[in-house]
Amino acid sequence: MRIGDLTIFVERKNIKNLHLRVGRTGKVSLTAPLFVSVGEIEKFAASKYAWIRKNLLAAKAEDYLDFIHGGCVTVFGERLIVVFGAKKDECKEGKLYLKCPPQEGEKHAAAALKKLLVKKIESRLPVWEEKTGLHASAFSVRDMKTRWGTCNIRTGKICFSLQLIKKPEECLDYIIVHELGHLINRWHDKRFYNYLRYNFPDYERVRKILKE
Ligand SMILES: [Zn+2]
Repeated sequence: MRIGDLTIFVERKNIKNLHLRVGRTGKVSLTAPLFVSVGEIEKFAASKYAWIRKNLLAAKAEDYLDFIHGGCVTVFGERLIVVFGAKKDECKEGKLYLKCPPQEGEKHAAAALKKLLVKKIESRLPVWEEKTGLHASAFSVRDMKTRWGTCNIRTGKICFSLQLIKKPEECLDYIIVHELGHLINRWHDKRFYNYLRYNFPDYERVRKILKE
């Protein structure tokens, strides 16, 4: 069921009252008694619109690819409402606009988010290359779940995890500096930490955010 920009999953049960729930992943479910009409359900859901919105924004969407119209995702640390059927893919005014229909949401959204992250890296990487004097030969973005980034010392290529898009931008900055550091230091040894402290003095605080 659609109420404005929300998608609500309605289920009928042999119960007495209407129940509304916002799940942890941002799924809105409504359980309705058998005797309540569709019109009444719609009216009830509409009257709870503000409450649903508030809970959606507070929900912690764990899985990024759980995309539904009116759901919530985190992009660079900011909670955004997903809107399908837009003219182009973009983040604007608290919303993530996606140009695909809702049924293609997951696949398209993953690609759209990857593009957003690539664009961000393209603007941030040169800044840190300039500061550190270290240069990656190329970079890529992959949906790595266990690492934020990797660096291939031999080829000079850096790979970033798509999961970085959830985190505030300073986390991406830290990973860029970290992986650039591996171009000249294979291990996390004293020399590596000296490099980190020098180029990114705030690294301990940002690393905590990455672990959240
Ligand atoms: Zn490392």
